[in-house]
Amino acid sequence: MNSYEYLLSDINTIKGIGNKTAKLFKKKNINTIFDLLWNLPKDFTDRTDLVKVNELQIGKVQTLMIDVKKYSFPRIRNLPNKVLCEDSTGKIECIFFNSYEGYIKKILPINTKVTISGKIGYYKNKYQIVNPTHISSDSNSIKKIFSRYSLTEGLKEKKYHKIITDVLKKIPDLNEWHSKKILKFFNNISWKESILELHNPKNVKKKGYFLDRLIFDEIMSTFLINSALRRKIKKIKKNKKIFDTKYFNKIKNKIDFNLTLDQLRALDEINADLKSNEKMFRLLQGDVGSGKTIVALISSVNVIKSGYQVALMVPTEILAKQIYEIAKKILDKSENISILTSKTKYHERKVIKSDLINNKINLLIGTHSLFQEKIKFYKLGLAIIDEQHKFGVKQRKMLSDKGGKDCDVLVMSATPIPRTMIMTIFGDMDTSIIKNKPVGRKEIKTYSKIDTKINEVISFVKKQIKNENQVFWVCPLIEESKKIDHQSAILRYESLKKIFNHKVGLLHGELDKEKKNKILLKFLNKEISILVSTTVIEVGIDFPNANLIIIENANKFGLSQLHQLRGRVGRGSRDAYCILMYKKNLSINARKRIKILKESNDGFKISENDMKLRGYGDLLGFKQSGLKSFRLADPVLNEDLFLMAEKEIKRIENEKENLDKYLPLLKLYDRADILNDLV
Ligand code: ADP
Ligand code: MG
Repeated sequence: MNSYEYLLSDINTIKGIGNKTAKLFKKKNINTIFDLLWNLPKDFTDRTDLVKVNELQIGKVQTLMIDVKKYSFPRIRNLPNKVLCEDSTGKIECIFFNSYEGYIKKILPINTKVTISGKIGYYKNKYQIVNPTHISSDSNSIKKIFSRYSLTEGLKEKKYHKIITDVLKKIPDLNEWHSKKILKFFNNISWKESILELHNPKNVKKKGYFLDRLIFDEIMSTFLINSALRRKIKKIKKNKKIFDTKYFNKIKNKIDFNLTLDQLRALDEINADLKSNEKMFRLLQGDVGSGKTIVALISSVNVIKSGYQVALMVPTEILAKQIYEIAKKILDKSENISILTSKTKYHERKVIKSDLINNKINLLIGTHSLFQEKIKFYKLGLAIIDEQHKFGVKQRKMLSDKGGKDCDVLVMSATPIPRTMIMTIFGDMDTSIIKNKPVGRKEIKTYSKIDTKINEVISFVKKQIKNENQVFWVCPLIEESKKIDHQSAILRYESLKKIFNHKVGLLHGELDKEKKNKILLKFLNKEISILVSTTVIEVGIDFPNANLIIIENANKFGLSQLHQLRGRVGRGSRDAYCILMYKKNLSINARKRIKILKESNDGFKISENDMKLRGYGDLLGFKQSGLKSFRLADPVLNEDLFLMAEKEIKRIENEKENLDKYLPLLKLYDRADILNDLV
């Protein structure tokens, strides 16, 4: 047995753990010995410092050395026995419920010096310790740090301690997997030393290197997998795409703006990938409204011109429709574009499928249903996935497999996450970032309003409409139930209709495709001024004339989601506004979210704050990203360690270091299977 394999043995192989106890552990996700070691103490009772009576702090566990002075044993039921003690600075009473006199006299002999430890109380002008558990005439036997674990219900602290103490004794010495340089950074502390120290610290206040070393291990285990994946992808050789950039100039004339420098750079990077014989696996990141669509479409044209088909996948039908309209403008008349969604009728679907396999469709725009269907392309050369966070790694991989080796993959994300997160979640991809938005964009002025002041909001809406602006009105997400959400949208629609008549439209997920499209077109053509909707408008849709968004019950939404919703306005050049409405009794967190939005339009900052408030794991469904969540590492707090890991990975890649020595690390952190799973 390799030494690390011992660590992976089932928890029930530990002596003293029977089936019943093992079950309790497993309930807490502690399945192996390694899991048990991971479960670091949540707290410590530090009995190392001796204090004097006049330094005692009520409520804290403290240790002090005292003289035993006087017993008081009342012979009345229910009254506790007391022992008065003192040191040179004051008095303290030890209180015993349900203890025999003989026992008390034995542990606290009168007129001796004794060390006691316990939680300090204060009663009738006197310090006291009730039922002190740690009493000894030898002060050294008490002066210890006592680790506290979050215990599984039904498991006594004493038993847990016995188990963990036994296990700690048996930890094997593992061969070091880190390079000398890295190790030196952590003061040459091994994995084992870190674990031992963190479970039984010599000094509670100095976790420093020990914890950092474990965090770094965890980050590396993820990054190594990403790196291996990336290397495997790079090894896939494809046919280069050959296209002429003269089409690019043609397209430039078809759009009424100049591409930003960031857009041009992203295009250069994508083109270089397309033209190379390595398969592209690239992430295009840019905040909402930064202009990713046009980059995707120009890339599509290049691929079509080189004789391949393109699949573009978006999260909603509405968005598919909108991109379809833009694509029609940009592609040549001779090139065929189709839309396929879950709502596409059977007959139409059949035609599309046969056209695809016969190379009669050049660009297919669709929703998730592109995955589910047995859809075959004649020659798929590029798969583009918009708003990827709704897709997991495995789904990304599935799509790229569809086109075989010649299919390049471009994933677009409007979730501006910190670099440490990109490295973690998209570490298997190359990245292009659109940092700056098109010039002339204004900050979206953001206000909050309590819902009782809806009349003020309505006057503001009136003013906007008078100036020929358009308004999104997002209805409350009352409950998880979609049905109720729709109802609330309908109610709001009806009340607004009384004020604004035919200028109001309603959009919700239950409407059929035709009705939806009709309303969207009406809004686009400015036949209606207010679009009341549930969150179906959340992603990607572009209405340059809309400059006000009202979000009811804003407190029910997450920070990043609010930022995305807000991004639906402010795409034109006029002043844009967002009004966050809330009900009274806002929670502290909701208050914080609203404040952050009011203060910033910067998606990166917002997502970072979102992570601080909610924890990175919850961020927009990244849980399903296929990578296991970290237990210790935090992409915000441990940025420096992430950056260091990134550097180390580059070194490993450059020196083509053999990964074998990292195998124990990957096995321990349960990452090794991901490799087999994905490639
Ligand atoms: P997102 O990155 O959120 O997908 P879009 O691609 O939908 O953003 O673009 C948002 C809006 O910005 C669209 O109306 C688009 O036409 C416009 N746009 C894109 N690029 C530019 C540019 N370089 N200059 C001006 N407007 C642009
Ligand atoms: Mg978009």
